[in-house]
Amino acid sequence: MARTYTKAEKQAFFGFLWFGGGLLVTCLTYSLASNGGGGTYAVAWGPVVFGGIKMMRGLLGLAAGDSEVDVDSSPETVPADRTHCPSCRRQVAAKVNYCPTCGRYMLA
Ligand SMILES: [Zn+2]
Repeated sequence: MARTYTKAEKQAFFGFLWFGGGLLVTCLTYSLASNGGGGTYAVAWGPVVFGGIKMMRGLLGLAAGDSEVDVDSSPETVPADRTHCPSCRRQVAAKVNYCPTCGRYMLA
């Protein structure tokens, strides 16, 4: 069975994909426009910025030792250590410091 990836690891990985993909599109269209003379130069800043931010947040999470498991992709293995946010009543992991939905401090 494959190991479970943490949220930070996934964030860094997919952020890297977006970041790299955006850069690739930008570089490809730039070289095509340069060689062809009059081609369309598409700067994919959206994915680059989006992916860059996502990647940085993931890497920061990794650096901080964030071991929160992303349960969104494996609903059959939802851990029992979950609680409800007293503010917005959404189900959140019991060990998180802040509610991911409304940002309420959970360890008061
Ligand atoms: Zn909440």
